[in-house]
Amino acid sequence: MSQPILSIKNLVKTYPNGVQALKGVSFDVKKGEFLVIIGLSGSGKSTLLRCVNRLHDPTSGQIIFEGKDVAQVQGEEIRGLRKHIGMIFQHFNLIPRHSVISNVLMGRLGFMGSFKSIFGFFSQEDKDNAMKYLKLVGISEKAKIRADQLSGGQQQRVAIARALTQGPSILLADEPVASLDPATCHTVMDYLKKVNQELGITVICNLHFLSLVRQYATRVIALKGGQIVYEGNPHDITDEWFEKIYGQGAKEVHIN
Ligand code: ADP
Repeated sequence: MSQPILSIKNLVKTYPNGVQALKGVSFDVKKGEFLVIIGLSGSGKSTLLRCVNRLHDPTSGQIIFEGKDVAQVQGEEIRGLRKHIGMIFQHFNLIPRHSVISNVLMGRLGFMGSFKSIFGFFSQEDKDNAMKYLKLVGISEKAKIRADQLSGGQQQRVAIARALTQGPSILLADEPVASLDPATCHTVMDYLKKVNQELGITVICNLHFLSLVRQYATRVIALKGGQIVYEGNPHDITDEWFEKIYGQGAKEVHIN
């Protein structure tokens, strides 16, 4: 059997204020999966993704990414790690006054020397790739427009294109549709699915709504209080499991 692309072993994260956000989380991710992580607000989903690309430092445990334990790497090695991991966020994190294309090119900054990056000397290849990924997310005609002139869904597609210019082997998406209306949710999720299926990029995505999970995930993990309470096929989540994950009396909300 092939090695997992990511293997998390007994991951613990305790914040300096004493909050134990992850209490020994272990799971593997196979190459090409579309893994969705669900759970109530505060269950540790965001902390988990942020430990993987080392926006947060894990307290203990292992994060084996492409065969290497990245839980304890420091300095330059963290920057090296982030080149291979794309990330998108709930609030898109674009530079509002910059054009769409220059936002997308930001994904290349980590690969350039400091002189070229300060003056924005991108190669023709970088520019061609940026346009290619804007086309992939169906937004190339907006390349010259300022990012803050776009709708939320369009901004998230720009963020996906920016992540792709890194040439990542894995894409982490932290509540990527939480700020969007239901129709736009599907558009953005459809592009993430396209990235997963056409480019073969492994996706790990935090999501709130179970109906979206059923539609897009190849596998699901549910967190509760910093621990895994469910791992398996999204279609196997019964009402009983739903109550275990979200608490008694919780009702499933459908996004149509
Ligand atoms: P989720 O993404 O599922 O909403 P989070 O990972 O954001 O959950 O939060 C998990 C727990 O860690 C929560 O109790 C939250 O308040 C706490 N937490 C998150 N970030 C920090 C931080 N920077 N400092 C202290 N506590 C934090």
